[in-house]
Amino acid sequence: LDDVRRKIVAGNWKMHKNVDEAVELAEDIVSDTNGTLNEVVVFPPFTALESVAEAIDGKHVGYGAQDLHWEDEGAYTGAVSGKMIADICAEYVLIGHSERRTMFGDNEVAVAKKMRAAYRNGLKPMLCVGENAQERAEGKTSRKISMQLKSALKGITPDEAEVLVVAYEPLWAIGSGQAATAKDAQEVCLLIRNKLEKLFSADIARKVRVLYGGSVNAKNAADFAISGIDGVLVGGASLDAQAFSAIARSI
Ligand code: PGA
Repeated sequence: LDDVRRKIVAGNWKMHKNVDEAVELAEDIVSDTNGTLNEVVVFPPFTALESVAEAIDGKHVGYGAQDLHWEDEGAYTGAVSGKMIADICAEYVLIGHSERRTMFGDNEVAVAKKMRAAYRNGLKPMLCVGENAQERAEGKTSRKISMQLKSALKGITPDEAEVLVVAYEPLWAIGSGQAATAKDAQEVCLLIRNKLEKLFSADIARKVRVLYGGSVNAKNAADFAISGIDGVLVGGASLDAQAFSAIARSI
């Protein structure tokens, strides 16, 4: 059943790389991942997004933005809209990354509005969900993830849901060097798919790619190449073309 879904390896560069460095990294990733059957996507910072787009346009590596504003234009100082991101032909946008949720006040309402803005502008959302350490310790993982999905996907049509990508990123695993075990990641990824089935249909749940993210590196990436996990969202290790490409080959 898994083979209906092409695996994704995605690199979230966060607030790293100036323009020249970003273009070089993107070009290295294009050459180092040449021949992979997996889908490869990079998320450069906004200042480098257009240059990266120009450098790798038409190549097998896709690109997207790390965030977007929920309105298309207006008096929103500092914000970048989905319309602007679509204008440079980006394919994806990350929504609800835990760093946005915890440090920039992206609550469930904002995340839901951003989801609608992405679809409205023809961008594919890569929706990040995950529990924190306390929620896991208290056995609230399932409830938290279900709540985040239900809220973010409210009003999304079945057609839209088909191109959705969900990334399970437990907060305690992000940037900590402490990745989830493959078994734990698999369990939550399956839970996410079950929830998608309830919210939409079995057919859609079968099509949506569900990724794992949190301290994935070249050494542990192969652990996540298991049923129900359709790839990885990589932070730190995506800043190195060789490490990222090794990950792309092992998932
Ligand atoms: P990490 O980040 O790979 O550095 O843990 C993952 C993420 O935040 O997407």
